[in-house]
Amino acid sequence: MRRTGIAPGLERTFQRRLLRWYRSHGRNLPWRKTRDPYRILVSEVMLQQTQVERVLGFYDTFLTRYPTVEELASARPGEVREAWGGLGYYARARNLHRTARQLIRRHRGHFPKTFGEVCALPGVGRSTAGALLSFAFHIDSPILDTNVKRLLSRVFIQRTSPTPAHSERRLWRLSASVIPKGRGWTFNQALMDFGALVCTAKNPRCDACCFTDICHAYARWTLRGVDRRG
Ligand code: SF4
Repeated sequence: MRRTGIAPGLERTFQRRLLRWYRSHGRNLPWRKTRDPYRILVSEVMLQQTQVERVLGFYDTFLTRYPTVEELASARPGEVREAWGGLGYYARARNLHRTARQLIRRHRGHFPKTFGEVCALPGVGRSTAGALLSFAFHIDSPILDTNVKRLLSRVFIQRTSPTPAHSERRLWRLSASVIPKGRGWTFNQALMDFGALVCTAKNPRCDACCFTDICHAYARWTLRGVDRRG
């Protein structure tokens, strides 16, 4: 057993099946075709509180207007807000703009590669930092967005934690330990896609899921005869 309390064999089964599922069902998204940290950061910030389908309508337009971190840093705040268009949650645009300026000022336009430095950028939380490090620099850094949290909780967590903070710490440990060594890029994308497409918040597609035999939530629902909704 590891610190997560999950048997290594179970983690390996989860890794193998998830990666197999991702090979045939993973989404083909524009920010997955680049390793440019700036472009990846823009996508991650846009995806905070916004669905992929909606972000797709804004991502290219924003990058056409600000193709580099230098160009974003030299823009005026009002212009950036306007370019953010109808995406809403404008604090994200403000933070992205501040981040661009900070990158130019403190890092000479280069993205830092340590977790602490990335987390110090305005509006970049722990999960966004993990996504940036794994997608841009192929560092095995964990993520824990809403989809990933739900998927890991349902599959692995047998008993509820005494407090939300305890649950959060436990899930972060789990999210770090399930990454197969050197596969952070693919694995984190796979976690996100599976949570968004199969293990959804409402009406999870358990009938099409490859984890029914190891999923604690599925076992609980089946035992109680619960309809898997909500
Ligand atoms: S069996 Fe259902 S609840 Fe469990 S991981 Fe699959 S879709 Fe999610």
